[in-house]
Amino acid sequence: MSEIPDTLREQTLKLLASGEAVSRADLVDTLKVAPSTVSNVVRRLLEEGTILEEGVGRSTGGRRPRILRLRDAGGVLAVTELGARHARVGLCLPDGRLLAAEEIAIDIAAGPKEVFEVVAAAFSAARADAAPGQPLLGVGMALPGPVEFPSGRLAGPARMPGWNGFDARTALAERFEVPVVVENDAKAAAMGEHSTRGRDTGDMIYVKVGTGIGGCLVTGGQIHRGGRGLSGDVTHVRVADSGERHCSCGSRGCLETVASGAALARELQRLGLPVSTTRDVIAAADDAEPAAVTMVRNAGRLLGVALSGLVNFLSPDAVVIGGALSSLDVYVAAARGMLYERCLPSVTQSLSIEASVAGPDAALAGLGHLVCAAVHVLPA
Ligand SMILES: [Zn+2]
Repeated sequence: MSEIPDTLREQTLKLLASGEAVSRADLVDTLKVAPSTVSNVVRRLLEEGTILEEGVGRSTGGRRPRILRLRDAGGVLAVTELGARHARVGLCLPDGRLLAAEEIAIDIAAGPKEVFEVVAAAFSAARADAAPGQPLLGVGMALPGPVEFPSGRLAGPARMPGWNGFDARTALAERFEVPVVVENDAKAAAMGEHSTRGRDTGDMIYVKVGTGIGGCLVTGGQIHRGGRGLSGDVTHVRVADSGERHCSCGSRGCLETVASGAALARELQRLGLPVSTTRDVIAAADDAEPAAVTMVRNAGRLLGVALSGLVNFLSPDAVVIGGALSSLDVYVAAARGMLYERCLPSVTQSLSIEASVAGPDAALAGLGHLVCAAVHVLPA
């Protein structure tokens, strides 16, 4: 039998894991390859015991198809998304679905060693609580900074002392001795958003706006990584009317200095409001504090300005705004208004511009998806 390309094997397992395909016919339709090619891949996966064949599905004319599914070997995936002061920690089923999640306190500025101790303890507690006796199959971690792919090395993250150049993937693999995925938080959240919305979403620009701003293009159901995996940086796009403030990157007038939660908190504080975190900004805007609402609306408009060039260039099917600030309708509406104003009508005609539907666990859901693929693609 000829060698099966890794990508075809990976795509087949992903489609079966997500339930997008349950039969050989589904795989032929979705993968757009010859039935004989699908037969070869399926035969190989059945032989090695990665998948099972059982029962029969509904007929769409002709013979009723045999149902294919991943072998349920038990076990869990442990996933975490790190922020500056908090981390979301969760467990996923082997097919990537999120089982349980909670928030714990961390201090990312304490450096990777100390943070990994706290996260490992939280993984142990979660497994003892929600999946006692289940083996750990894989680990995923989303980080709030640029992550090189596939090495998982941090490349010049802001506000993360001790992390620059740190090889998070190797450190986690040595600690847990299972396949590990390390990803930028916006990219992980984009995958979670895309899988929550389903494959009809099409090409999507996802922006995560919290204390900082991150972005990701999902095209053909895959993260567009670019050279070294460092794509998606919208935070240091220079925007007009931004007040030319100094940015953490050393430049001036970046989007981050006007449209991020950190920038809004700083500006509101300067006006004398009792605001120090992104959560305080959201609370002030929810309370209809006039200065907060005006500033949040202006921030949303500047996000729209920064995204308009990308939208004209890429002509995506969807722009999705996620992260904490996406809970503010005024922010999302201002960004949407500016995109309609700045983009070509032919491009915005069928463009959907919406707040995230995957919510605060978007990154954990995305990691579940990515770790599931890594666990099933790597030879057992
Ligand atoms: Zn900058």
